Amino acid sequence: MSLLDLHTLDHCELCPRRCGANRAAGQRGACGVGSTLRLARAALHFWEEPPISGDHGSGTIFFSGCPLACTYCQNYEISSGGFGIDVPSGRLVEIMLELQEQGAHNINLVTATHWAYMLPRTISQARALGLQIPIVYNTSGYELPEAVLELGDVVDIWLTDYKYADAKLGARLSNISDYPERAAEALTQMTTEIHRRGGLRYTYDGLMEQGLLVRHLVLPGFIDNSLRALDAIWTHAGDVPIAVMNQYTPNAAMKAQGGILARAVSAEEYERVLDYADDLGFSTIFWQEGGTVDESFTPAFDTTGVLTSAP
Ligand code: SF4
Repeated sequence: MSLLDLHTLDHCELCPRRCGANRAAGQRGACGVGSTLRLARAALHFWEEPPISGDHGSGTIFFSGCPLACTYCQNYEISSGGFGIDVPSGRLVEIMLELQEQGAHNINLVTATHWAYMLPRTISQARALGLQIPIVYNTSGYELPEAVLELGDVVDIWLTDYKYADAKLGARLSNISDYPERAAEALTQMTTEIHRRGGLRYTYDGLMEQGLLVRHLVLPGFIDNSLRALDAIWTHAGDVPIAVMNQYTPNAAMKAQGGILARAVSAEEYERVLDYADDLGFSTIFWQEGGTVDESFTPAFDTTGVLTSAP
């Protein structure tokens, strides 16, 4: 039986949590969702890495729910707060076509891990109706390699995090005890899928058409985790494009809690991580200017584009 078969929702094991929720009967899994597709926003987004956003924007679709539970999440309204609107899967097909019509360079599926079972069918339907732009799978990295394998023919670009090399830190900050191993397995499979399809490919004007881009968010005070995460990316994916991000901004919970995660990443910390990435040999490193997140990195989750086309 395929991992992405609809009736796997009877006992969901779509992500490495394998919590076994009976989503088909309306039970919500550890990701916070049942069986009805819920979306929070669908609009052009201009703040991904340049080969993804280009000049016209990435057609970004934010899915509600998340298998992780990161205490510092910037998207907590949708990841753990359940914000969004329930829509039939046919609406997802329409949204992809509407974003293409608006000029999107690609369709960017943000945290679709727990909806993966419907992606091969919906993407194929959109292709049959004229969708031509690449599909970006934008993920926390906490994926099953079997799911990556089954999505390998419909996903063109894997835009994945590698958050933790330190399992204890993953347990403390994302309530997940096996992030490093599971993310390494998934990253290895993503690398295999892209090699199978002929490797990285860009358009003449520098947009990614097919490939893998690995992101790492530097956390204040946890620089050793960042260095080991870069080691893991190099080990499991080799010289792929990476994005080393310093946009960590303490959310209300982190500010209230105080301590090391109540501050931003210092310039010295960020430089140390960037220097290490350079020393390892990564030839394409995207980095960020400024010390903290700009509001534009976190769009308004106001259901724009979910029920009707974004203006
Ligand atoms: S996708 Fe959600 S319901 Fe399924 S195993 Fe993961 S956390 Fe549980």
